[in-house]
Amino acid sequence: MSACMQCGKELTHNEIGAHRKFINRASTQFLCRNCLAKRLGVPAELIDRKIEEFKRQGCTLFV
Ligand SMILES: [Zn+2]
Repeated sequence: MSACMQCGKELTHNEIGAHRKFINRASTQFLCRNCLAKRLGVPAELIDRKIEEFKRQGCTLFV
C-alpha cells in the first residue's frame, strides 16, 4: 500500500492516478489529494472535480 510522501496518509487508487496525471505519470512516490492540491496551489475540490472528469473520459488511472 502506498502512502503520501508528504504527510504519510494512505493513498487511494484515484489519488495515485491524480498524482500521475498532474505531476508525472512515471512517479513511484505520490502525494495525497490535499498535499497535491497544496503543491499545485489549487483547492482540493478542484482535484476531485478533475478526477471525475478524467473518469468520464475513461482514463484508466481512475476507478
Ligand atoms: Zn499528503
